[in-house]
Amino acid sequence: MDRLGIVVPCYNEEEVFPISAPALRGVLDDLVAKGKISKDSFVMFVNDGSKDRTWELIEEEHEKFPTQVFGVKLAGNVGHQYALTAGLITAKDFCDVTVSIDADLQDDVNVIEEMIDKYHEGCDIVYGVRSSRKTDSFFKRTTAQGFYKLMSGMGVKTVYNHADFRLMSQRAVQAFSEYKETNLFIRGIIPLLGYKTDCVYYERLERAAGESKYPLKKMLALAFNGISSFSIKPINMILGMGVAMLVIALGVAIYSLVQFFRGQVEPGWTSLMLSIWFIGGIQLISLGLVGQYIGKVYTEVKQRPRYNIEKVLSDDSKED
Ligand code: UDP
Ligand code: MG
Repeated sequence: MDRLGIVVPCYNEEEVFPISAPALRGVLDDLVAKGKISKDSFVMFVNDGSKDRTWELIEEEHEKFPTQVFGVKLAGNVGHQYALTAGLITAKDFCDVTVSIDADLQDDVNVIEEMIDKYHEGCDIVYGVRSSRKTDSFFKRTTAQGFYKLMSGMGVKTVYNHADFRLMSQRAVQAFSEYKETNLFIRGIIPLLGYKTDCVYYERLERAAGESKYPLKKMLALAFNGISSFSIKPINMILGMGVAMLVIALGVAIYSLVQFFRGQVEPGWTSLMLSIWFIGGIQLISLGLVGQYIGKVYTEVKQRPRYNIEKVLSDDSKED
């Protein structure tokens, strides 16, 4: 029987914690009763440097349910992505499979069972995907969906309408932990891991209590980080612009020389036109070229794993 660890990052969640802790324990009890996970499965709350009583509440809950509720206290606020990573990497040493979910219960806890079923069918990663965003404000919905579109336009593989509600097997978390990059955008890395994946669909609910900890500023930072950590397309775009400008320069050159020989120009116009377009194009191309090297440096310094092995067949291979 597999041991499940549900990982929950919490930042100033004292209002919602008293609702989410029993709800998540309820999920564990239910799954244990159905024989889908082992009795020692747990919920691990990661306190991301909360300024309110969140950690005290986690401690109290742990005392009441020491086998079911675990806690990790980060030394300071590091943000959702890092808090989640800390939780997953800590939890993987205690369990066979993890599920990450936000503290506010906006993601439907009832589909965790479906995730576990897919895991038993052999999936290493199961994405929770929002089938609708009725409860999100118009603004949040359009900006979020625009973000997914922009990401795919930039060539970053992400799962549409999936946030960080997902199941990951222990080996998937292990593979994820090999991505040592500091500018972390988890949603972009998971699809790079490989492994068998699937999706479960759910309606996104309202926050059970408290307020969003993701103001516009943090959302924009996440979006920019997502693109700049995964894509060197913007650099290629500069190069493209430079080439386009040189082509235009050629046209401008022909036009202004024709005008020059027809004697229909002010003195100085031809040389100005020629130099503006040519120098502009050459500058952009040069920037783009330098950018290509920076792009290489950027992919190299990340030292991302080049592959993940899923299975090896050899004469002494053992099934695990
Ligand atoms: N969170 C965190 N650190 C932060 C900000 C948020 O751990 O600095 C957690 C928060 O407690 C919640 C999750 O990240 O469990 C998602 O945040 P929130 O629900 O506020 O974001 P939204 O759903 O509005 O995008
Ligand atoms: Mg939320």
